[in-house]
Amino acid sequence: MRNLRFVVVGAGMAGILSAIKLREAGFTDIAVYEKADRLGGTWRENTYPGISCDVPSHLYSYSFAPNPEWTHTFSPGPEILAYLENVARQGGIDGLIRYGTEVHRLEYDRAGWRIGTSAGRADRADRADRADRADVVIAATGVLHHPRYPDIEGLDRFDGPAFHSARWDHDVKLAGARVGVVGTGSSAVQLVCALAGTVGELRLFQRTPQWILAVPNPAIDAQDRARYRAHPAAMTELRRELGSGFVEAFANAVVDASSPQLQLLQDLGLANLEDHVRDPVLREKLRPDYRAGCKRLIISPNFYESVQRPNAHVVTERIRRIEPRGVRTADGELHELDVLVLATGFRVDRFLRPIEVIGRGGVRLDEVWARRPFAYLAVSVPDFPNLFMLNGPNGPVGNFSLIDVAEAQCGYVLELVDLLGRGRCREVSASRQAMARFETERAEAAKNTVWMTGCRSWYLDDRGIPAVWPWSFTRFRAAMARPVLDDYELV
Ligand code: NAP
Repeated sequence: MRNLRFVVVGAGMAGILSAIKLREAGFTDIAVYEKADRLGGTWRENTYPGISCDVPSHLYSYSFAPNPEWTHTFSPGPEILAYLENVARQGGIDGLIRYGTEVHRLEYDRAGWRIGTSAGRADRADRADRADRADVVIAATGVLHHPRYPDIEGLDRFDGPAFHSARWDHDVKLAGARVGVVGTGSSAVQLVCALAGTVGELRLFQRTPQWILAVPNPAIDAQDRARYRAHPAAMTELRRELGSGFVEAFANAVVDASSPQLQLLQDLGLANLEDHVRDPVLREKLRPDYRAGCKRLIISPNFYESVQRPNAHVVTERIRRIEPRGVRTADGELHELDVLVLATGFRVDRFLRPIEVIGRGGVRLDEVWARRPFAYLAVSVPDFPNLFMLNGPNGPVGNFSLIDVAEAQCGYVLELVDLLGRGRCREVSASRQAMARFETERAEAAKNTVWMTGCRSWYLDDRGIPAVWPWSFTRFRAAMARPVLDDYELV
C-alpha cells in the first residue's frame, strides 16, 4: 500500500469522520485543516437559544460511536458538540487537526494537490501563509455554513443589535427586550420557542408559513441511559429502527410527490394546526398553501403554543425596510424593536467556496460551478482528480441524518482511495460522460419530487430544479455500496 498523504478540509462532523476512517484504513499521513479554533462545524457555529437537532439523537450519531449518554430524544446543540469532541478524542484524531488554519487554495499538478493555507486572524498582521501538499483531498466543508443575509433595505441602519441566527451575539440581553425574528425555518422555530417566554415582546416576521409536526421530545431517563451503557447493542438496534422509520416516513417519501406517507405527514401537520391554534385569524396566517415536504418539514412540539403567548405576534405583512427603531412593513406600520434576529438561512450553493480550487489543466472549480455546483454522485467532479466531497452538491439532505449520508459517502470514497493506495492508478475522478448522464437523470427524476410542487426552498437551484438527491434514500445507499469504475477516469 502506498503511504498516501491526505488533507481533510474542515473538522466538523464529516471531517472528523474522514480522519477516523482513514486511520482505520491504515493511513497515517493525515492533516485536518480547521479555520476555527474548535471543531464541530454546524454545532460550533450555531449557538442560538433552543438549538437542537430534529433527527433523533440515537440516529444522529456515528454508527461506530453510539452514545449512551444522550439526554433527550432530540439532543440540544451543546450536547452534540460535546459528543463530536469526545468522538474525535477517543478516535485519537484531535491531534491531527490544525486549528485556526484556513485553506484558501487547492491546486492540482502532476505531483498531487498543492494546498495554500493561512493561519491566524484575517485582520491581523501576523497572519501567516503556508503551503502543504497532499495526494488526496477530502472536502468536508459543510452545506449550511455560509449565512444568508436578507436583501432588505436599511438593514445596516437599525439602531440596536442585529445578527444572524448562526452568529448569535450572547452579549445581548434579551430578557424583557422587544425582539424581532425574520424567517420561519427550522432555526427560527427553535429560537422562537426558546425566547417567547423570556423576552418582553416577540415579533415573528413570516414570509411563508410552515408545515409543523408536533413530535414530542421526551428526556431519556437515567435508567435507559444505564441500560444503553450496559448493552451497547440496544443502541445499535434502536439506530437501525429509527433509521428505517426515517427512511420510510421522510427520506423516501419526499422524492415521490404522490406517496401516501407524504399525505400522512400533511394530514398530521394540518391536524396540529387545527387542534392547537385557537384564534381563526392566526390559524389562517399560519396555514401553508403548498404541499407538506416541499420545504423542509419542521418538527416542534411547542411552536404554535409559543406564538400564541400574549407577548408574541406573527407579522405577515411584507417587510418594506428596516429603520433605526424597527421594521416598517408594507402596510406602513413600524414595529419597534430593541433586537433584530435574522433567521434567514444559508447560502447553500457555496460548498468549498471561497477556496480557490484549480484542477487538472488549470480548470477552475469556480468556473465549472459558475451556474450551479454539481458533483457525480455528490462526491467527485471531472478534472478534479483525487478530490472527494462529503455532503457535497446533489447529496441527500432532506429530513435525514447527514451523519448517515457522510458515512455512506466516506465508505465509497475509501474504495476509490484504495485504488490509489494499491497503485492501480495515480488519479481518479468522475468521467465527463458519467457526470453528464448523472445530471440528465437527476433533472428528470426531480420532476416527481415534492420539491417541484410549488414552493420557495433552499432545495431548489437557480433553474427551480432540486439541487439535491432526487431519488430514494435506499437508492443512495445502493449507489454508495461500491463505485462503478467505468464511471471514473483512472489515470
Ligand atoms: P431556512 O430554512 O432557509 O429558512 C430561512 C427563512 O428566512 C425562511 O422562512 C425564509 O422565508 C426567510 N427569509 C429569507 N429571506 C427573507 C427575506 N428577505 N424576508 C423575509 N423572510 C426571509 O433557514 P434555517 O431555518 O436556518 O434552516 C436551514 C436548514 O438548516 C434547515 O432546513 C435544516 O436543514 C437545517 N436546520 C436543522 C435544524 C435541526 O434541527 N436539525 C435546525 C436548524 C436548521 P421563505 O420561506 O419565504 O423563503
